[in-house]
Amino acid sequence: MRTLQSSNLQTIPRNEHQISRQNIDKNALKILYRLQKSNYQAYLVGGCIRDLLLGLKPKDFDITTDAKPEQIKQLFKNCRLIGRRFRLAHIIFGHEIIEVATLRGHPNQPSAQAKANTSGRLLRDNVFGNLEEDIERRDFTINALYYDIKDFSLRCLPSTMSDLEQGIIRLIGDPTTRYQEDPVRMLRAIRFAIKLDMKIEEKTAASIEPLGYLLDDIHPSRMYEEVAKLFFAGHAHATWQMLQTYQLLPHLFPFIVQHLKQKTPNLSSMIEQLLLTIDQQAEQGQRVSHSFFYASLLWYPLQETVRDIRVNSNLNLHDIYHVAIGQVFEQHNPSIAISKRCCNIIREMWLLQLRFEKSKNSRAFKLETATQYKRALTFLNMRSQVEQGHIKKTAKWWQAFTQGNAEQRKKMTSNKANKSTTQASKD
Ligand code: ATP
Ligand code: MG
Repeated sequence: MRTLQSSNLQTIPRNEHQISRQNIDKNALKILYRLQKSNYQAYLVGGCIRDLLLGLKPKDFDITTDAKPEQIKQLFKNCRLIGRRFRLAHIIFGHEIIEVATLRGHPNQPSAQAKANTSGRLLRDNVFGNLEEDIERRDFTINALYYDIKDFSLRCLPSTMSDLEQGIIRLIGDPTTRYQEDPVRMLRAIRFAIKLDMKIEEKTAASIEPLGYLLDDIHPSRMYEEVAKLFFAGHAHATWQMLQTYQLLPHLFPFIVQHLKQKTPNLSSMIEQLLLTIDQQAEQGQRVSHSFFYASLLWYPLQETVRDIRVNSNLNLHDIYHVAIGQVFEQHNPSIAISKRCCNIIREMWLLQLRFEKSKNSRAFKLETATQYKRALTFLNMRSQVEQGHIKKTAKWWQAFTQGNAEQRKKMTSNKANKSTTQASKD
């Protein structure tokens, strides 16, 4: 059991740090004050304080308190209790949701509130505790940070500030135990190293590769969320490379890696192009979409599947695609569960690729009204950067059609225009 003396908890008084209430989300402050008024302890915790100290804009503001989930619920009308593995409160302010968790204690005692599986993974983690215990449960020293609303002081571990200053990602406690408790911490180490431009400390880094297999057991829906956090906020390219260095790609994307190994045509250039494109999107403040990401990643494995089915069947191409799409999701989704809604969007984006080829005529107007037309077109452009041959012409045609005025569009889709294109392609 990891033990930490309460003297290990450092206090940095208000006049020795730069965090001001002006930089703190107004709704988070409201929650902190309400908890304090009801005689509970209340702290901002983790990444938000870390980011403020580093001069970055926090992604979200998390709160921890000694109030139990039910007590939190009684204090806030706009509160919803969530989670089974880790029960916590969501306080809802319109579009903003603030997470309020009860301080956690040691999970080591076998009880109804804490439960681990045979590999040490915490399946349930609802043992409540105090600040000294909670701080040990945080993942990295740079995230073991609390801002106390009572006197505006900071609480942290002795190495928190020096690790922040030196840019070191260091797991709290024994790396093997901490990764066994929650293997997603390996992905978090990589994510923070890249996002914050920091180094993963030697022991924290050394256990990643040998324990990578533990990620195989993470629930595919959680993996879907984690992949988005890893890739959709910028630095996707660097992230992919670091995952490769730590040999984690086969545990995240086993289906894709299998296709990379068997050298599925165009797949590696598509991945390269995809990572660059989503980094550009993030940099321009655009939202990176799950559907674009997975449609791109899985398109060439889909082509291989289509090819295999075609050899042994006399179905028409459209039907072959339907079968192949089902097979691709079936093989991919056990590791990362793409949401049902997203699978439906991807399916339509893919089927529209077939229609792009055949509809460079009066049918173009109809195709343009398809729900996923815009997404499918963006994806067609993506393919045109990866594939050789006719696809470039097709993408150009659709771009011109989309951007053209009424007269140009009419001209492009007239029978005459089509005859000359058909003739030209025969020539
Ligand atoms: P960001 O929000 O920028 O992704 P963060 O550090 O705030 O980074 P969150 O997922 O918002 O990450 O979690 C808030 C805090 O909760 C973390 O700073 C850390 O203290 C703790 N935490 C989150 N996930 C884990 C985990 N898997 N194991 C241990 N502690 C965790
Ligand atoms: Mg956060």
